[in-house]
This record gives sequence, structure tokens and C-alpha cells, in this order.
Amino acid sequence: MAALAGAGLEYMIIHPSTVKDSNKLDKKKPSQTTIQQAFHRLQQVLPPEHVTVDEEILQNHGYSSNSYHNEGSPNIVVFPRNTEEVVELVKIANEFSIPIIPFSGGTSLEGHFAAPLGGISISFREHMDDIIALHLEDMDVVVKPGVGFEDLNKVLREYGLFFPVDPGPGACIGGMVGTSCSGTNAVRYGTMKEWVINLTVVTADGKVIKTRQRPRKSSAGYDLTRLFIGSEGTLGIVTEITLKLAVLPEKEAVAVCNFPTIRDAADVVPELVRAGVQINAVELLDDEMMRAVMMSSPQLGHAIKPTLFFKFSGSQAQIDHEIKVVSEITRQHKGGPFKYAKDESERKELWEARKICLWSASLLKQNASVWTTDVVVPLSRLPDIIDETKKDLKESMIEGAIVGHVGDGNFHAFLLFDETKPEEYEEAKRLNKKLLERAIGMEGSVSGEHGCGIGKKGYLRSELGDTTVDMMATIKYALDPKGIMNPGKVLPDD
Ligand SMILES: Cc1cc2nc3c(=O)[nH]c(=O)nc-3n(C[C@H](O)[C@H](O)[C@H](O)COP(=O)(O)OP(=O)(O)OC[C@H]3O[C@@H](n4cnc5c(N)ncnc54)[C@H](O)[C@@H]3O)c2cc1C
Repeated sequence: MAALAGAGLEYMIIHPSTVKDSNKLDKKKPSQTTIQQAFHRLQQVLPPEHVTVDEEILQNHGYSSNSYHNEGSPNIVVFPRNTEEVVELVKIANEFSIPIIPFSGGTSLEGHFAAPLGGISISFREHMDDIIALHLEDMDVVVKPGVGFEDLNKVLREYGLFFPVDPGPGACIGGMVGTSCSGTNAVRYGTMKEWVINLTVVTADGKVIKTRQRPRKSSAGYDLTRLFIGSEGTLGIVTEITLKLAVLPEKEAVAVCNFPTIRDAADVVPELVRAGVQINAVELLDDEMMRAVMMSSPQLGHAIKPTLFFKFSGSQAQIDHEIKVVSEITRQHKGGPFKYAKDESERKELWEARKICLWSASLLKQNASVWTTDVVVPLSRLPDIIDETKKDLKESMIEGAIVGHVGDGNFHAFLLFDETKPEEYEEAKRLNKKLLERAIGMEGSVSGEHGCGIGKKGYLRSELGDTTVDMMATIKYALDPKGIMNPGKVLPDD
């Protein structure tokens, strides 16, 4: 067995009445002996090769190059095949009071699957990646958590259907439920919360619940489906998900339009939404982001100016109408001519440039690490927050770029810094904090779609207030009294 960290075990038992004092509680890692005992028990309930302490695998399940909250790796990684095996391994973790950290695609950005107290990472991508049932007549699909949304869409395309929620490349449905993600299509299709019909969940004490039957809506009882969506593995382990599906649109069109200033581009958005345009997506890339896109895809020939990317879908008549309305609004805000994708491959290429922004951004600076932040504000405040953030970035000693799903009032700042220079890292931290506080001040949120993980949990009290956060802690305590489910995430440490 590879090196097992830690000593002593008695950690994190949070009762709501003591929530504010819980930092006095002992939050220790499980001892090496405990981990060894659990390891042997796990090998009895799973095929032995589905339980590993291989250092590289542990590292891959705790560390993310997209995150600045890498606070530790798990002690053990397991690869279950079904709900029954998850039940067995959760019972073992519960008996030994060992943390459990679910892991699906590993693309989350706020240290969601880091293991600050060590523990058992449950990895779904390997053996829980099946489509269980496709109900074409009902337009829904039942999947295991390790199914990638891109792979699912490849299968659905054959039937003229698709699943519209589109976060980072490589994300899987389990993790998408975990973070309550969205993506470029959210302005038309909504977020994960709108597309999940029911969940099968293994609770912290190894019970199995199903949150609903399979109708597309229901008002029976509390909405446990939505309680688990966005809970980041802190309340239960999702082992099956039923998703609604959408019909593939007849046609899609992609267009881009640039603007003299970022304020002009941002001003388009609230007007567009108020005009009731059924646009699929509207994405804003600032001049710096366009510079990065042009460095990675020079053949696209874009101007290095603040640019809006639009995606339209429907019949040709609908698309023509929407483009007419949108181009009138953009003209009023000094927008240049619309540039269209000529064919399917150009359309894909144009949109791909948007999806890989995070990776392209690192081209803007040598040895750059990219800290991605995520805020959302009411639509009317979007132009202000983008304008003010851009000013901060211009005045800063480090580089940064802005990109966003602005149709929902949601955008990201990419803060570029050299990890070997502590002053640059401190500056990225300062800019991130300022942005989050500004969003809260505008009645917004510190996370539009990435979730809290480790990085944002400290802002929850100032965004939502003590009473609301204490109620969340009460729910957490009720469902996970030992605090074994993905400890250290979502709720503030205090
Ligand atoms: C290039 C890039 C672009 C991105 N763009 C977007 C975007 O447009 N929109 C967006 O919303 N996000 C985006 N993201 C972030 C990321 O893709 C999403 O957060 C996504 O939902 C994470 O899914 P995952 O499968 O990778 O989850 P993971 O990283 O594996 O896990 C995420 C969280 O869910 C929990 N979890 C995982 N599986 C389960 C389970 N079975 N049961 C319970 N909890 C579970 C984990 O413990 C963790 O807390 C982007 C990321 C990258 C790298």
C-alpha cells in the first residue's frame, strides 16, 4: 500500500446550534490504520482491482490544474459499477467515519473534489458510464453519473434529440448535477435544475432514495431533486439520473459582431432579453479574450475588439427574424456588421473558439496560470459590473480577460498570473475577492454556475445571510451527521 497520510480520527461533527463554534471541533484526517482497515473491507465488497491506492490515480482524483484550491488528495480511489456497490462502500466509509468524495468528469473549478481530510474518492467515469434506458416517447433518458454530456449527445443525435446543458468539455452528468452547472445554451434552455426529472441517491448512512417517479413535472412533497442538484456531493451520492431531452432544432446559425468598447457590447444584452428574442446563446468576449482566440485560431480572422457571439436556432424563417431584431439592437450600440458562419464546419469552428476560451487564455502570458472566476448579477447591472471589472483589470499588474454567458447576467474573469511570483498570485486573489464582493453588492451571486467548492464557500454568509446559511447547515447535519460527505465544501468553515 502506498503512503497513507494522517493520524487520529474524530472530525467534523457539526450540530446547527454549534455551527458558529464548529471551528473548535477537531477536523483530523483518518489515521493510517483506519484507512488500511477500510481498504481491506472495500476489497471485499468491490472487485479488488476496483480499489486503488496508486499514487498517480490518487493525485488525479484530488488535484486539478484548473483550480487554485488543491487542498489534498484522497487516500483511496474506488470504481464502483452500480448503486448496490456504492451502498456497500458508503456503509464502510460511514462505519470508519472516513470522508467520501464523489468524482465524475473532474472538470469542476473551485476545488470541488480536493480531499483536504483525505478519504475515499468514488470515481464514476470508469464503470458507471452507461445509459440505462432511453424513453423516446417520453423524451427522457436514465443514465449513470459517469456518462459524459458530449457522449450522450452523440447517441441522442441519431434520434433527433439532444441534452442542452453544456459545461466544460469532459464533464459528466453526475458532476453536472453536483455543481448545478449550465453553459452557453442556458439563456434559452436553462440550467441543470430545469432538466433533471429524478435522482437515485445513496445517503450518508447507505440508504437508497429516489427523489421522484418519472413524470416531467410533479408537485408532490418537498423537492428533493433540487436539494441534491448543486449540493456538490455534500448531501448524498447520485447513482442514477433521469434527464429530460430536447428536440434538435431544424437549423442553427452562429454570428459574431464586434463593438468599440466592452460597455457598448454589454449594453446590448439587457435590451436583447427584454425584446423577447428566442436566442440560443449570447456570449461576450473582451478584446483580450479575442486576442487569445486569434492566437489559437488565427484562421478565424476576428478583429481584436470586444465581441458578442450569438447562436440562433429553429426554422430558417425564425432564425432570419431573430437575426433581424438582434442586428438592429447591436447597430444601436455601435456594433459592426454581423459575421456569419458560412457552413456547418465554420459554425462548429466559431463556437469551438468560444468553448476553449479557458485554455486559449493561457496563451496571453508566458507561464500563465489561469484563475477562473464566475459571478452573476441581475441583467440590468451587467454593463456596470463588466465595465468596472474591465477597469480593474486594466489597472492591475497582472493580465486578465473577460468572457461570459451574458444572456443570463453571468460572466467569468480569467486572471493570469505566474505561480512562481507570489505578488502576482496575491493580486489575482485580490481581484477575485473584489469581483465577488461587487457582485454581492449588486444583488448578484458569487457563482452563476461553477458552484462554491472550497473557493467560494467563505462568501456564502455575506451573499445569503446567517439565517439562510444556518438553515443549509441544519439540512447538512440532518443528512450527514458525521460530516463524511465531501467535507470542507459549500458551507463556510465557521
Ligand atoms: C474549459 C472549461 C469550461 C467550463 N465551462 C463551464 C460552463 O460553461 N458552465 C459551467 O457550468 N461549468 C463550466 N465548467 C466547469 C465544469 O465543467 C462544471 O462544473 C461541470 O458541471 C463539472 O462536471 P464534472 O463531471 O467534471 O464534475 P466533477 O468535477 O467530477 O465534480 C463536481 C462536483 O460534483 C460532485 N459529484 C461528482 N459526481 C457526483 C455524484 N455522482 N454524486 C454527487 N456528487 C457528485 C463532486 O464531488 C464535486 O463536488 C468548465 C470547466 C472547464 C475546465
